[in-house]
Amino acid sequence: MPAEAKPVHNPIRIDPEVCVKCNLCDWICPGDLIYKEEDNRETLPVVEYPDECWYCGLCQSICPVDAITIIFPKQMIQCKTDVTTLLGKVVE
Ligand code: SF4
Ligand code: SF4
Repeated sequence: MPAEAKPVHNPIRIDPEVCVKCNLCDWICPGDLIYKEEDNRETLPVVEYPDECWYCGLCQSICPVDAITIIFPKQMIQCKTDVTTLLGKVVE
């Protein structure tokens, strides 16, 4: 029996009522994860590779109308690992 596919976490939510389809989020995403048809002012951007997002927030900061909300996964919000373990020792 094939293993059940794990649901993909969508890292950003784009409010379709607010988005003005300006393409800026597509342009700025450093991983090129967001796709927006450049010449079509009717289509919304879509996250093509949701599991490759590293939650940098650039798409949210550049959006001129605040249409983007970052949705952090539970593992990130509930992370109990201490900062030194995550980032390494602080050198005085
Ligand atoms: S949070 Fe960063 S990596 Fe994720 S979709 Fe937005 S710009 Fe791209
Ligand atoms: S930056 Fe904001 S307004 Fe522009 S296409 Fe992306 S979500 Fe829409």
